[in-house]
Amino acid sequence: MHEGRWGAFVGGELLLHAVTEGGAGESLYGNFPGATAILRSDHNATGRSAVDELIGVIGGSGFYEFFDDPRTVTPDTPYGAPSGPITIGEVAGREVAFLPRHGVHHEYPPHKVNHRANLWALRSVGVRQVFAPCAVGSLRPTLGPGTVVIPDQLVDRTSGRPQTFFDTGGVHVEFADPYCPALRRAALQPGTEDGGVMVVVEGPRFSTRAESQWFAAQGWSLVNMTGHPEAVLARELEVCYAAIALVTDLDAGIDAGSGVRAVDVFAEFARNIGPLKDLVRVAIAAAPTERDCACAQVHDGVQLPITLP
Ligand SMILES: [Zn+2]
Repeated sequence: MHEGRWGAFVGGELLLHAVTEGGAGESLYGNFPGATAILRSDHNATGRSAVDELIGVIGGSGFYEFFDDPRTVTPDTPYGAPSGPITIGEVAGREVAFLPRHGVHHEYPPHKVNHRANLWALRSVGVRQVFAPCAVGSLRPTLGPGTVVIPDQLVDRTSGRPQTFFDTGGVHVEFADPYCPALRRAALQPGTEDGGVMVVVEGPRFSTRAESQWFAAQGWSLVNMTGHPEAVLARELEVCYAAIALVTDLDAGIDAGSGVRAVDVFAEFARNIGPLKDLVRVAIAAAPTERDCACAQVHDGVQLPITLP
C-alpha cells in the first residue's frame, strides 16, 4: 500500500493487459469527417454506458511511471498524430491509457498541442473517461503552490485553436458545466480544493500583471494554458472529463515579485509530481465503473456529420 498526500492507494500491483494494436483503420479510428451521417449512441437500453472502457490520463511525462512494463499504441487520427504514443496498463483494476499532453520530450508548447488528435486517439483505443492533471497559476493567495484544485468551471481566453470536431452540420454540445460530475467526485479527495473557475489563456507567455488582476477581479481562481479546448473536445466525443489542477505559482496579479518564471513553474511541478500521481491513482480507483452521467448521452437524438471513433 502506498500512502499519498491525498489518501491511500490500495491498488496492489500494476498489471498489464494486452491490448490489440492496429486493426482496420476505419474500425479503430472511425470514419473521416463528413463521411457518413448516422444516428449513434454508446449507452444501452438502461441509459447506462457499460465501462469495459479505459480511463485516460492526459498529463506530463512523469506519469509514465504509472506502469512497470507499459505497452504502447500509436494511433493516427483524421486530425494528425497525437502528441505522443499512448501507454496502456492497469491501475486499481482499471485499464488506463496515458497520453503525454506536450509530447514525450515536451516538444509541443500549449498553443501547439493537437488537442483534437489527442482526444480522438484516446477514444479510438476505448477511453471513455479522462482525468487531466495540469499545472496552473493561482489567482488567490489562499491557493498557494502545491495546492490541488478540482475546478468546476472554465473561461476560454484562447485564440486560434481548433476547438470542435464538428466543422460541418449543426452540432452544438451542451457545455454549461464543462466537467463530468462523477469524475470530479472521484478526484475530490481529502486535501483537494472543491471548485473554482479556471481561465485558460493562449500562451505560451504568462499573463501581464493587469490581465492577471483582471482575472482575479472576476472571482476566477486559476489560470492555465491547456484546459481549453481539451474539455469541450472530450464532451463532443461523449467522453467524461475532469481537470486536476496543481498550483505551481502565484500569478503575476497577486505576486508582488517579478512575475511568473517558467523555471519556477517546472520546478514546483517536479516537486509535486509524486503526490499528484498518487492522487490520480486514487481518483482512478474511485471512478465509477458504469457511466450514468449525461456525458455519455451528449448526442442522443442528434444526427452527427461524422462517426465518432
Ligand atoms: Zn461523465
